[in-house]
Amino acid sequence: MKADNIKNIKFSVLGAGRSGIGISKLLKMSGASVFLSDSSKKEELLYLNEQVLKDYKIEYELGTNSDKIFDAEYIITSPGIAPGSDVLVKAKEKGIKIVSEVEAASWFCKVPIIAITGTNGKTTTTELTGAMLRDAGIDVHVCGNVGLAFSEIIPDLKSDSIVVLEVSSFQLEYTETFKPTVSAILNITSDHIDWHGSFDLYAEAKYKVNRNQKDEDLIIINYDDATLRNRADKFNATVGTFSLNRPISKFSYEAYTDNDNICYRHNIEEVISNKDKIFLRGTHNIMNSMAAIMAVKKFGVTNESIKRTLKNFKGVEHRIETVRELNGVIYYNDSKATNYDSLYVALESFKSNIILIMGGKKGVNNFDIIDPLVKERVKYICAIGQSREVINDHYKNLITVKMFDEFSDAVKHAKTIANPGDFVLFSPGYKSFDMFQNFEHRGEVFKQIVNEL
Ligand code: ADP
Repeated sequence: MKADNIKNIKFSVLGAGRSGIGISKLLKMSGASVFLSDSSKKEELLYLNEQVLKDYKIEYELGTNSDKIFDAEYIITSPGIAPGSDVLVKAKEKGIKIVSEVEAASWFCKVPIIAITGTNGKTTTTELTGAMLRDAGIDVHVCGNVGLAFSEIIPDLKSDSIVVLEVSSFQLEYTETFKPTVSAILNITSDHIDWHGSFDLYAEAKYKVNRNQKDEDLIIINYDDATLRNRADKFNATVGTFSLNRPISKFSYEAYTDNDNICYRHNIEEVISNKDKIFLRGTHNIMNSMAAIMAVKKFGVTNESIKRTLKNFKGVEHRIETVRELNGVIYYNDSKATNYDSLYVALESFKSNIILIMGGKKGVNNFDIIDPLVKERVKYICAIGQSREVINDHYKNLITVKMFDEFSDAVKHAKTIANPGDFVLFSPGYKSFDMFQNFEHRGEVFKQIVNEL
């Protein structure tokens, strides 16, 4: 769809979050008729600014999804609504076209888009890519799942801007014409299967990032991920691969690690940076860095800019975020680690001397995943939250575990037992809702306690 053709078309927008409100404004400004509906009550809607809706003369309803939704040619759906939900099934039966906010915002975007998806690492890679482009003096607009929605940055774009978009499988599921200049799929592991219905459907949603790409566009894939490697020949566009090994893939663009260096090959081989010169910790962040490098190289960013950014980029809040150093001990906030896969990559990022603060809302205890690393690298566990007892039961015969009712007591205790050279790592491995509003809140509280030590 072209933005010029939107006038007088009827849209129903589901969800009054940032993206729902952002896209409603854009559509309305283009002369469309817009009806915004959110089944949540007013008090539950964090980003709701009713005055904006009134100023833009956007008709809306809250606390219900009435049948008026179906009086539309298009429904802009929200990631919170599963494909099998009543409202979307009914819309489909009625022949209403269903698209996501990313699809609709892309109708208005006339500049190149770098779209980053994957099960893990999206936010970090998106922000890192943005930082590299910014360092190179490019007018870059970072948006998507965190911070601004795609539709919110559209009015600020200039003719030479570049958009870096973090895009989830939920948003990709409902795309039709969305066409990034560069797409990256960082990895695909089992996640969000409930929403999509199966692993294959989840993977198919991710592949949609590439559906409309052409030969002149680039798709960057993780060559160490078997699902992606096996599909490498089936993507549209030019394929670029990144790998921790040196596969020398048959594709013309490649990033890889060789001894201690991150290298890049397109016609010639170049050393980009020594691995130790990257501020971000962990093998997973080498992968994220390689994806970002490949994306910005397409836009001519120099190796100097890339190197400087890798050295200076401090990461995204709550993801192995350095909080402070105190008496030779460094404190890290990894509150985003809400499951054992994330806890695993955090442990992998430190060779030894870890004092681990973990625990949270009762959930899946995949000890098998982390056992080898805990045995090898963790000195002491401070267990918190609803899951503290199961953690204690599992590890008490292996290493010292102490349970705490109060989060602040756990952090203070970690300080008393830490020696210079140790790392205090808060990587919970569980969701936060037993004691906090969300992982961001949990991370903020941790940082406050650490800063007051
Ligand atoms: P997302 O936006 O996809 O959730 P983030 O960049 O916010 O990803 O990282 C979330 C967590 O995922 C991190 O704290 C880390 O534990 C893990 N992670 C990040 N990058 C990767 C990667 N490339 N591979 C595996 N796990 C990763």
